[in-house]
Amino acid sequence: MTDISLPHHIECALLAHILTCDPDSLMGGRISLNEAQQKELASNKAKFHMGTPLSRIIGYREFWSLKFFLNNATLDPRPDSETLVECALDSIPKDKPCQILDLGTGTGCLALSVLKERPLAQATLTDFSAHALEQARENAQYHAIIDRCTFIETSWLEGIQGHFDYILSNPPYISPSDYQDLDENVKHYDPIDALVAHNNGLACYQTILSQLSEQNISFNKAFFEIGFDQSNQIQELITKAGFKVEKIQKDLAHHPRVVILSA
Ligand code: GLN
Repeated sequence: MTDISLPHHIECALLAHILTCDPDSLMGGRISLNEAQQKELASNKAKFHMGTPLSRIIGYREFWSLKFFLNNATLDPRPDSETLVECALDSIPKDKPCQILDLGTGTGCLALSVLKERPLAQATLTDFSAHALEQARENAQYHAIIDRCTFIETSWLEGIQGHFDYILSNPPYISPSDYQDLDENVKHYDPIDALVAHNNGLACYQTILSQLSEQNISFNKAFFEIGFDQSNQIQELITKAGFKVEKIQKDLAHHPRVVILSA
């Protein structure tokens, strides 16, 4: 196999994966690999070179400076979603207990990042996929916050009731037609159910909003990630459902990315 040269941080991450160590611990010293390890490294470099996302090779993605392990039922956490974590943390006080609900949790990256920053908070993490929920549970265990988490296998808010101080969600919001134009590697590795929603990408917001208004659930604030061009339509849906739009937060690329609503 020909040797492929990749950026230093990618090489380190691939090497650390083979050696099951932390990439930071590789700085400096000389490393020798046995034959099987050399083969595996060369094959992983070739996979990366052909477009396999690094996270799908090494099995985790760094999000909010934390490791989130993935499986084939979870979305690969995106940096855009850190905007949602930032917005939520701006609202959640450090010194008070609170209840958080994360809908369609996937790897758990939203709720778990918030829990790491808010030691008195507790979270309920839901997903309709048992396999995704298993991954979220593993991540909660890895970050030693599993005792503050409850996991529920359900579709959005089905069967859920009670009071939650903060609701977080990054639901699928890509329309079936836009999905066709996505990068082939995204289509290959990210589960379609985590990306695509009918009704021009709005169907999941509609379901969540109608469940919120019809079920026995109360909340203070909800934070939804949205597509860059969905802000007007979503504000309309929120108002129609009887809730108030508090703010639309832009992401680092200046696209509207998070809608904050209140009851
Ligand atoms: N909440 C998870 C994330 O933001 C999963 C989102 C999803 O599957 N649409 O990565």
